[in-house]
Amino acid sequence: MNSLLLTGIGELVSNHPGTGDGTPLGLLRDAAVVVEHGRVAWTGAATRAPAADTSYDVGGRAVIPGFVDSHSHLVFAGDRAEEFAARMTGTPYTAGGIRTTVYATRAATDEQLAANVARHVGEMRRQGTTTVEIKSGYGLTVADEARSLAIARQATRETTFLGAHVVPPEYALDPAGYVDLVTGPMLDACAPYARWVDVFCETGAFDADQARTILRAGEARGLAGRLHANQLGPGPGVRLACELGLAAVDHCTYLSDADVDALAGSGTVATLLPGVEFSTRSPYPDARRLLDAGCRVALASDCNPGSSYTSSMPLCIALAVREMRMTPAEALHAATRGGAAALRRDDVGHLADGAAADLVVLDAPSYLHLAYRPGVPLVHQVFVGGAATL
Ligand SMILES: [Zn+2]
Repeated sequence: MNSLLLTGIGELVSNHPGTGDGTPLGLLRDAAVVVEHGRVAWTGAATRAPAADTSYDVGGRAVIPGFVDSHSHLVFAGDRAEEFAARMTGTPYTAGGIRTTVYATRAATDEQLAANVARHVGEMRRQGTTTVEIKSGYGLTVADEARSLAIARQATRETTFLGAHVVPPEYALDPAGYVDLVTGPMLDACAPYARWVDVFCETGAFDADQARTILRAGEARGLAGRLHANQLGPGPGVRLACELGLAAVDHCTYLSDADVDALAGSGTVATLLPGVEFSTRSPYPDARRLLDAGCRVALASDCNPGSSYTSSMPLCIALAVREMRMTPAEALHAATRGGAAALRRDDVGHLADGAAADLVVLDAPSYLHLAYRPGVPLVHQVFVGGAATL
């Protein structure tokens, strides 16, 4: 048997409320973790830790569960740095900018797209992300969406079919025809590579009726639904997500009282993506309102070349604390256990016995430093399935 003892942990975030200080983070001081067969086998006081085959002393550093980034768009080519620069001098962000990336992605080879995904997943890993969801959505043809998902599937099991990202230019005069394509031949080609189906439900993209049609078609093919909604303005997407019992509805920047009530009364996770508001200089979602209403909240990067070209979950945590009035504990929980809930995963995002041994050693005495020291590389080591990766 190959067991590993991680010891010398100054502060352990277990996200297991039954242990440690009794808070949702389940904090333990002077702790140890035993890993066996890639899973957490024991957590507790370092002085009571059982023996293991090998041991690794983290020297008083903090250890947290690996981040679960439940929303990214990593299958793309090119970048939109010029668009970002223009935006910073006053050009507003619109959904139409996505088409710029569609042209570049269609022109790229499979090898170029796969290399780009691997590069970004590596970048995420070095910043502490151990589970990532990846969407298609920059191909928007049957062949380009299917190859996007086949490439994403090489990097993660959390793949999402987002053929309904925007209506591509060749269907500009026939959006109903494009919905038929998405729900027909494109879904047929993509379903084998996808776990999830998603729609950008927003003015300039798809309306609620189109979203409902596409989500139902995906569900009929075994894909569970999630939704982009209420990013650029108020809309019906959040209530639709709650009505359909989707795992998550993402963005949630413009919410009515009815939207918040619907979220609070549902099992749907509200995923907040503050990298978008940062990068588009837009008002942040009101996280405090959602948390105080009892909604489940996740934080994710939305890493994509247009509206949020950051892969950094620590940045998202810092923004959530500074700009969205989440506490550091709420933000870390949302970036780990919240992301896992948004992906309907019980095996990641926490370090209770039996969980995947996906954990991050911070070069800091406390998780508080994630928000307290923004922009500083605090990731000392990342374990995935109990194996050190850095
Ligand atoms: Zn997105």
